[in-house]
Amino acid sequence: MIWSREKLIELEALTLAPYAQKSGETAGRHFVEPPHPFRTDYQRDYARIIHSRAFRRLEYKTQVFLNGTGDHLRTRLTHTMEVVSVSRCIARALGLNEDLVESIALAHDLGHAPFGHSGEEMLDKLMRGQGGFDHNEQSLRIVQQIEKKYPHIDGLNLTFELLEGLQKHREFYEPPPGSHAVCYLNPSLEAQVANLADEIAYYSHDLDDGLDCHLIHPAQLESLEVWQESYEEVKRRYPEIEGRELVAYVIRCIIDREVEDVIATSARRIAETKVGSVEDVRRQPQPLIGYSGPLCEANRALRKFLYANLYYHPDVSQVNRRACEMLGRVFETYIENPNLLGGNTATRIERDGLHRAVCDYLSGMTDRYLLDEYARLFPSLS
Ligand code: MG
Repeated sequence: MIWSREKLIELEALTLAPYAQKSGETAGRHFVEPPHPFRTDYQRDYARIIHSRAFRRLEYKTQVFLNGTGDHLRTRLTHTMEVVSVSRCIARALGLNEDLVESIALAHDLGHAPFGHSGEEMLDKLMRGQGGFDHNEQSLRIVQQIEKKYPHIDGLNLTFELLEGLQKHREFYEPPPGSHAVCYLNPSLEAQVANLADEIAYYSHDLDDGLDCHLIHPAQLESLEVWQESYEEVKRRYPEIEGRELVAYVIRCIIDREVEDVIATSARRIAETKVGSVEDVRRQPQPLIGYSGPLCEANRALRKFLYANLYYHPDVSQVNRRACEMLGRVFETYIENPNLLGGNTATRIERDGLHRAVCDYLSGMTDRYLLDEYARLFPSLS
């Protein structure tokens, strides 16, 4: 038996919730393409993302710690895979479209610059007055313009719903082509799930990596509800475990607790608002996927803690500051010598302007490529 695209669409209609985004109801792609015989549109989006260059580069980009500083610390790629895992679990429990949520999660960090958030801040500063730099906007630029996979088409020609999922933190969302609405206040539930799963993944794994590197100590975490509740539960169930074994299991329990809370809270909001379609979801004034009030508060405290004790820890920020100085020097050198930008330089500058062309080129680099480039350009300084 062959599962054709039509059969997969039928299966979605039978098994997904009424408020899920079905692939058979996609608003389509900018460039119309013939349907695939045995893959839905979101399954094609998935394949396009994992076959892209930007996706392969995630392996060598910083999450928090400079890439290559520890073999089991998270990279942008492993973070992405954790976001996929959390997203799929929430989506499955709520009857949402797993193919769509997975594709959004896989693409959500494609636009990150080398050296993580420090690199992003530095590029934004270098691009002041030239449109700035934001990794979410850059993810969209990559999939809509920068990736080259198809003859005569810029970008990956992804579906409307995938692009909607990458427009994070917008005040308004553009309506699908053919819709009578002027704008929407919220994206699909699949997009909302991927967005929240990103937070769940980084809260927990940054805590894990920070403990693993001894930049954070368990004693510092006693006042944090998110940590303490799971810690006490683990100690009750396994009083004999300690050290790394204890930390690993507490982190596991934190993720579980967050996911269960989001599923229960979101299911309740979905029931209360009585949304019956994805259009209803987009018209809601507030997102429907979210944490309960108490967990929201507890996560806010965790976030504050991570900023104060990990992201700006001298051991992390010193390395990042040095990396950003390199980023700045390479940026200025390219502005002065655009011929160093590699192939298609003239076309890129003509289309996007010199600063944007340099920013695209630099932000696409992995940590190690930028370090090598710096050593090549400034042999006496490295
Ligand atoms: Mg992320």
